[in-house]
Amino acid sequence: MAALQELLEYQRLDGELRKIELELGATEEKKKLNQAKVVMRNAEMRIAAQDKRALEIKALRDSLIARVDETSKAIAEYSDVEELVEGGGDVSFYKKSAQQLMDKLRSLKGELNKLIAEIEQLTAEYKKLMEQGKQMNKQKKEYSEKYKEVQAKYADRIEELNKKMEETAKNVSPEILEKYKQKRKEKVFPVLVPLRGDMCVCGMDLPLAQRNRLAGGNVIECENCHRFIYNA
Ligand SMILES: [Zn+2]
Repeated sequence: MAALQELLEYQRLDGELRKIELELGATEEKKKLNQAKVVMRNAEMRIAAQDKRALEIKALRDSLIARVDETSKAIAEYSDVEELVEGGGDVSFYKKSAQQLMDKLRSLKGELNKLIAEIEQLTAEYKKLMEQGKQMNKQKKEYSEKYKEVQAKYADRIEELNKKMEETAKNVSPEILEKYKQKRKEKVFPVLVPLRGDMCVCGMDLPLAQRNRLAGGNVIECENCHRFIYNA
């Protein structure tokens, strides 16, 4: 029976600790701190995506500029169309080819302008993100200090609870303790629950053979929710 009492005591202390954690988590300081962290993380992600797009745009721009150059040169070759005609060329053929090149050049320049517009848009957004990041960094620093002050008020109590829990844990089976801590990490509380009729709190039916194992202050692990069950 002693082990069960110790485990219940451990959970009671843990519950007090959890209450403090919840109180701390609900403070304005913690909320402002978290908000700054979330906004900064999102801004970093968007900036990384922008950097990637900027590289793509640069490659596209370079290739477009090369094509504009190439086309311009080809057009220049037609500037002396009269000479070409005198040399025995077909004037309408040259005119048509020159026109096609001019159309190509116009379309390339159109694409280039679109890219430039995108670059401007990215630059504006980047500036906004950096400004936001700066602001949130300031908020993070400010509220990180404020939150430390709030935490300091609870520090003694937390330390006291931790010590008591450590002491109590010495009388709890290490295997159970390990599993208990695992469940707590999964935000489950309470981990140790009384038998409710023939069932676990999660609704799982416990066969008689299992319930019999609860005698003498033993605990069993629910196969469904993995909480520990005891007979109150
Ligand atoms: Zn269960």
